[in-house]
Amino acid sequence: MECPQCKSENTQRLSIIFQSGTQHISTTSTTFGGGGGTGFGIGSATTTTSGKSQSYLASKAAPPPKKSYKWVPLIVFIAIVIAVYAQTVLLGGIIAAIGGYIAFKAFRYNKDVYPGLRDLWLKSWHCNKCGTIYTE
Ligand SMILES: [Zn+2]
Repeated sequence: MECPQCKSENTQRLSIIFQSGTQHISTTSTTFGGGGGTGFGIGSATTTTSGKSQSYLASKAAPPPKKSYKWVPLIVFIAIVIAVYAQTVLLGGIIAAIGGYIAFKAFRYNKDVYPGLRDLWLKSWHCNKCGTIYTE
């Protein structure tokens, strides 16, 4: 895919950049001497890294996020606690209804909006020369 901005052929799919730039790691690395070719930095540094390592470019190329449901059990829990301890089923019911509405919106988003965004992302390219992101 040729870049529409600068006509460079040095382009990559966002999905490829994201996959190659994101690694799930758990390592301990020891670095000696100076880094980055600048000549600065003396001695050694021990870095313990765990979790997700992501380059700047990979985060720029990240896919569109799905709406999360992680908070749903919390809302349900709060609604039950209020209903039981404050003995107001009404208030608990309102909170549960609000939670249900937000969950429904998230569900609709993931079902109706998200696939289109993901398709667009899968068809998107990044120009390694000028940084333009474009869709085929
Ligand atoms: Zn370009």
